Amino acid sequence: MTQKKILVVEDERAIRDMLAFNLGRAGYDVRPVADAREARAAIADVHPDLVVMDWMLPDISGLELTRQLKRDGETKEIPVIMLTARAEEDDRIAGLDGGADDYIVKPFSQRELLARIRAALRRSTVADGEVVSAADLKLDAASHRVSVRDAEVALGPTEYRLLEFFMHHPDRVYSRAQLLDRVWGGNVYVEERTVDVHIRRLRKALTPYGYDRLIRTVRGAGYRFSPQQT
Ligand code: CA
Repeated sequence: MTQKKILVVEDERAIRDMLAFNLGRAGYDVRPVADAREARAAIADVHPDLVVMDWMLPDISGLELTRQLKRDGETKEIPVIMLTARAEEDDRIAGLDGGADDYIVKPFSQRELLARIRAALRRSTVADGEVVSAADLKLDAASHRVSVRDAEVALGPTEYRLLEFFMHHPDRVYSRAQLLDRVWGGNVYVEERTVDVHIRRLRKALTPYGYDRLIRTVRGAGYRFSPQQT
């Protein structure tokens, strides 16, 4: 199983260091940052599986940053656990209204935080297991099956992951470097033309159904999955 990546956004150094240490020891790949500006850069860079966000930050509040993340199609699926020093009911509601998936009141035990993190990650994995479809093309993440009108489309593992990524991120251009990062993972070294090879295979597998054209080449930019083009 791959290590889950957690972004910790907390301006208080002692708490940030403590979180980084404890989450690291619990087996997570932790990226600690001190403010919203650094958080945005880190999110674009590492694509965390979850964000632990302090409410009170020096630039914009954790609540406002969470709202921004939840408005952006690229980041809205990332679970956010809000840390708050305020126990008042109103603030809790504001936190959840703002899009936080859970909140935890300071001071909290590490064990409680870890339990909340595991629960939030489990929920987001279940959401990933849904069936996505585009026209008659259906992808079932639970069974790893791709089908068109009940006929199974045989795909290699990389082509499957590519298609899964595209179907979750339609109508948006991705460069080869972005696809390598998002589909292959940031830690592998693969040449960019590898992407073209797998795109070609994926298109070939979809050609009998006429769905190869859903994957558009955008000259000088990369690729776009456009389900409306049928
Ligand atoms: Ca703070």
